[in-house]
Amino acid sequence: MGIFTGTIEDFDKYIGPRMRNIVQTSIGKKFKLQTGECEFCGTRDNLELANIKGKDRKALIKLASKEFLNGDIIYELDLNKYETTFRNLHFPLDETFKIFCKKHHNEYDRTEIIEIPEEFIEDKINTPSDISDVEFYSSGNDKLPIIFYPKDTTEFKELLLQNKSAYITIFFNDGTSEKKEWVANRFSENSDLIRNIRSRNEFRQGNWQKRNIQ
Ligand SMILES: [Zn+2]
Repeated sequence: MGIFTGTIEDFDKYIGPRMRNIVQTSIGKKFKLQTGECEFCGTRDNLELANIKGKDRKALIKLASKEFLNGDIIYELDLNKYETTFRNLHFPLDETFKIFCKKHHNEYDRTEIIEIPEEFIEDKINTPSDISDVEFYSSGNDKLPIIFYPKDTTEFKELLLQNKSAYITIFFNDGTSEKKEWVANRFSENSDLIRNIRSRNEFRQGNWQKRNIQ
């Protein structure tokens, strides 16, 4: 029985590749075959496995080691048990992965999530994983893709008008993300939602590319 003690960084460095291998070859491959087409355009060629945002390998590695974690140090983790926990965290598969062609995988990875704070949403049948449904409000490489939550932009706009607040999650090229509040006091019935977001200084053409936003 193998036992690991060390930093989460070392764990990721030495154990991470094996976990990656398990995901890519066994779990992911099955899901790819089972799904069979790009969720966005339906093509069956060159499919890739994408992790739903917030459920990437690093996040799941950390989650699975949670009970052994004290600060940044993992203490006496049983590797065999760990592997089972890590594997199980990927199920149900459609809540962890999406299947895309290369182009839409890239677009999905650099999509912004813009969401109304959960406490403002009355109808909570939607779970946070619903955020990941892909709603590309732009295509092409020159515009930043956006995902709204709730998905329906009319509903989103209504809630924004009522509550004047939403969260914006920005994903950067280095894999980190930043969540911040959008206080929309000046947003009115006549405002154009998409244009409003795109006119934010950080998202303007040229600026988001410079800031290394995906
Ligand atoms: Zn596609």
